[in-house]
Amino acid sequence: MIQNEWDFETLAVRAGHVRTNEGEHSEAIFPTSSFVFSSAAEAAARFGGTEPGNIYARFTNPTVRYFQERLAALEGGESCVATSSGMSAILAVMLGLLKAGDHVVCSRAVFGTTTLLLQNIIGKFGITFSFVDLTDMAAWEAALQPNTRLLFVETPANPLTEIVDIRALADLAHGNGSLLVVDNCFCTPALQRPLALGADIVVHSATKYLDGQGRALGGAVVGDKERVGRDIFGVLRNGGVTMSPFNAWIFLKGIETLALRMRAHCDNAMQLAQWLENHPAVEQVYYPGLVSHPQHVLAQQQQSGFGGIVSFVVKGGQEAAWKVIDATQMLSITANLGDTKTTITHPATTTHGRLTPEQKAQAGIAAGLVRLSVGLESIHDIQRDLKRGLDLA
Ligand SMILES: *Cc1c(COP(=O)(O)O)cnc(C)c1O
Repeated sequence: MIQNEWDFETLAVRAGHVRTNEGEHSEAIFPTSSFVFSSAAEAAARFGGTEPGNIYARFTNPTVRYFQERLAALEGGESCVATSSGMSAILAVMLGLLKAGDHVVCSRAVFGTTTLLLQNIIGKFGITFSFVDLTDMAAWEAALQPNTRLLFVETPANPLTEIVDIRALADLAHGNGSLLVVDNCFCTPALQRPLALGADIVVHSATKYLDGQGRALGGAVVGDKERVGRDIFGVLRNGGVTMSPFNAWIFLKGIETLALRMRAHCDNAMQLAQWLENHPAVEQVYYPGLVSHPQHVLAQQQQSGFGGIVSFVVKGGQEAAWKVIDATQMLSITANLGDTKTTITHPATTTHGRLTPEQKAQAGIAAGLVRLSVGLESIHDIQRDLKRGLDLA
């Protein structure tokens, strides 16, 4: 197939689309819950799995399939299952691959809801978890047990952008007969392709950069034919964590500009991080593109860009951080990320507000920490909006 020769930018625009006889140029949306068969025999063959084709939109829909095939092509995976949200993608991985008695090692610095899903919900079914520091390879190794089925990681992590060596972690997992799952939300396949580095499964919150414009919730799981195409597809078919065709269409349109947008997010974030590092009111800046970042060299090797998330600590603790946030007139005060609009968050009192003071100290969530998801506005306007508060702080 010609698709095998295409570069990333081309796959992002064209992969997965199969035109109908109407000859539509842009992908069609199929708002239908079910599909008809030409005969009773065809219906039986479809249900029996001896003939491919659509049956019911809980588990297949052409618009959703275009999205699945496009994302699979971008991540370099055999199969993709689209889901209703990023959380339902992670839920589907856990339900599809784990059984009672299994153990999971997860990095401590994962999306807060992921931790709650694992501990409070998946943990009810006889599955146990260990949480380790993302960058501490010895801790990952020490946490492995004979029954460890999955290692789960987010890299770069939220909000301090720590990075782990995906290839080293994959080798560690495979040596123990375990699988490595990477949440690739922050980088997207435009900047990092975990499967090529040895990871087994990639999960996404499509809600973030894949849409890129804050319009819809969705998620995806990408990997091989057996685990994703069969086991996780089984969770979709029987559990119904389905992506709507309308949302799939939005994500298809978002992905068409993904490579361009990610490059622009990276450029703005780099300029902003350097500018912040030189501001006298700023104590510390966390951005993988800065030479001062502890995993800067690893980020250069593992990623083709440093991403759009920049965090920094303002001198003067929470009061100063809130002053900076409240002085902005343009930036959006919201916890969402991966949008064309720059967003600003105070992790210690929002996304990480449920942590105890000791847990915050351990996780490096300082009272003065501010997280930015750097958008696509002019860098001068973003700087001007932040400068107001920083000059007061
Ligand atoms: C937002 C997010 C999720 C959850 O995705 P939803 O689409 O909100 O369900 C999971 N992982 C990461 C890293 C996220 O940022």
